Amino acid sequence: MGAPILGNMSQKFTVGWLYSDLMNIYGDRGNILTLLKRAEWHGLETNLVELQRGPHPKMEEVDVFFFGGGQDREQALIYDDLKEFKHESLQKAVSNGAQVLAVCGGYQLLGHYYQTAEGERFDGIGLMDVTTQAGRKRFIGDVVVQTNIEGLRPKTLVGFENHSGRTFLGPDAKPLGKVVMGKGNNGSDKTEGTVQGGIIGTYLHGSLLPKNPHLADYLIARALRRREAGALSPLDDSAELAAHDWILRRAQRR
Ligand code: GLN
Repeated sequence: MGAPILGNMSQKFTVGWLYSDLMNIYGDRGNILTLLKRAEWHGLETNLVELQRGPHPKMEEVDVFFFGGGQDREQALIYDDLKEFKHESLQKAVSNGAQVLAVCGGYQLLGHYYQTAEGERFDGIGLMDVTTQAGRKRFIGDVVVQTNIEGLRPKTLVGFENHSGRTFLGPDAKPLGKVVMGKGNNGSDKTEGTVQGGIIGTYLHGSLLPKNPHLADYLIARALRRREAGALSPLDDSAELAAHDWILRRAQRR
């Protein structure tokens, strides 16, 4: 690892929580707590900006955006606002090196559209080259993924899925990984999630980051790269990875 940031409390780290009041299902707020706490352990001065409906002038200060899951009802309440008040600033922030983690309902709306099982179509903002159509049957259960992310160790991600959407990737999107257990993007092509530029979309609730600390640090480190902040020093993740490995062992027993 490179020069640690530790002890340099002047280095700020800001998390932007998109639609914290509405897109926060199945404990997804655990991702916010993990990003903030791990950044603090890395010696960073943390800040949380809750980006609910309406215009927000401070989006360019955000290092990592989190966009959580939500049922069709919540997605219907926010997709217009996402286009009108967040799209341009989010696109600009990502082009300046900010990172985005989007889970399930948030993931779907970063694509071109999400269509409900009843045929109602919510426009997405097309930051990810994916489309989603909901089926009648929900995909619910534990998920284990073998990731394609260069350098991520362990190479597995574990979580929980609960969605009716079937997401398919276009040519500009790469899968986050291969499904080892569960359904993933669509239950048919064995892919899970999407990685496109600084954006990661995934169906993994859980919440995702507490049992996948390596992904949390990946997001923090990539966001700080634009400020030449140096590499993060490793933390003692024995408890977190014990939880991760317990899910892996349970999957192997199935
Ligand atoms: N409403 C979407 C679906 O059912 C997203 C659900 C979620 O965020 N868990 O696929």
